[in-house]
Amino acid sequence: MSTVRVRFAPSPTGNLHIGSARTALFNWLYARAQSGKFILRIEDTDKNRSSEVYLKEILSSLEWLGMNWDEGPYFQSKRQEIYLSYAEKLLRKGLAYKDGEAVIFRIPHEKIKIYDLVHGEIEVDNSLIGELVLIKSDRTPAYNFACVVDDMDMNITHIIRGDDHISNTNKQIALYNALEVKPPKFAHIPLILAPDKSRLSKRFGAVAISEYREKGYLPEAMINYLALLGWSPGDNREFMEIPQIIKRFTIKRVNKRSAEFNEDKLRWLNGEHIRKLSLDKFIEITRPFVKGDFSEEWFEKFAALYHGRVKTLLEFQEELNLFISEDIEYRKEDVEKFLKNDQVLGILCVARERLERLDDFTPERIENEMRALVEEKGLKGGDLIHPLRVAVTGKSVSAGIFEVLTLLGKEKTLKRLEICRKKENL
Ligand code: GLU
Repeated sequence: MSTVRVRFAPSPTGNLHIGSARTALFNWLYARAQSGKFILRIEDTDKNRSSEVYLKEILSSLEWLGMNWDEGPYFQSKRQEIYLSYAEKLLRKGLAYKDGEAVIFRIPHEKIKIYDLVHGEIEVDNSLIGELVLIKSDRTPAYNFACVVDDMDMNITHIIRGDDHISNTNKQIALYNALEVKPPKFAHIPLILAPDKSRLSKRFGAVAISEYREKGYLPEAMINYLALLGWSPGDNREFMEIPQIIKRFTIKRVNKRSAEFNEDKLRWLNGEHIRKLSLDKFIEITRPFVKGDFSEEWFEKFAALYHGRVKTLLEFQEELNLFISEDIEYRKEDVEKFLKNDQVLGILCVARERLERLDDFTPERIENEMRALVEEKGLKGGDLIHPLRVAVTGKSVSAGIFEVLTLLGKEKTLKRLEICRKKENL
């Protein structure tokens, strides 16, 4: 059996976003699953729309995701001669004609069958198309032609790309036929839609991979999530590590129906992948993400407490900022719910006094002290703990409150609890 050769062929006219990264991934996974080759080809024949900035973004995002390529990048802009020589071939055969500098292909009027590995057989009547530009009047190749020439020349065996290219495939097959070359196998993978079934937009999913990176997503979580957009391993498993995905990846299990982008699921998976990291690894990757005036020892304790609680590294940074900032801002609804009550503020003042008297500011000592106070006042634990949490962290959810207070330190805890005497500021 011949070696599988697949390619990812982005045009550097935009960033690598969810859709294009998923196309790259399915090719990469297939290559790795089949011990084949993954080839990177840059389709940059449109000089006006291509840019170096996008190219860099695409390459660095692929690298970050760990989708290493075995060959390339090849640049179409540097392969002009090859396209011209193939155009010449078709001219000589009388299958194309010249119109000034342009070369035009007369598409034979016949029915074309596409054997698609995802969709099965698709029949298209090419008699409705007529002609196809191969070389434009500026001597650059048109997409369909450059694509066929390259896929042929690079011995591509499988073309895995988005459904939106099905309408090109019948034209491309006509070109393979004209050049008397057997077409590669095609697998058109389903579109990714927003939750409301609209196309992906800036608001939903059409976001550069580099932005997810900045927001603190892990590459392995992105890969895990992208793999599930139109493919499933055959059971209900969602959390998977990359080697497991490679092992289980087949085109057979790619869905025909469109996939739905769901940011909450991506966040959830990211949280799962974060949790799966060892604490040392977590510390290593979060450390550059945060800065502030704290010791390494303190940071490690903080990281241990929040490792299992955050879904992105950015969220980790935000949690950390709550600890190290001088002032905290309260949300209106939390103030209404937890702090705007004289009795509650009274209790917080007492709690503050008790904490002030503590020499040993450990979670155990704090907990004993607070439990005793609750009992003494005939309250329930939550009556004190919820307002206390909001008062010191500005949030209604946090890690265990006693650990939080210890990490925050006595001085800051007392300072933040001063709000119990400042109702007018709330
Ligand atoms: N440059 C094309 C695109 O980005 C590639 C299409 C293909 O894979 O054939 O859509």
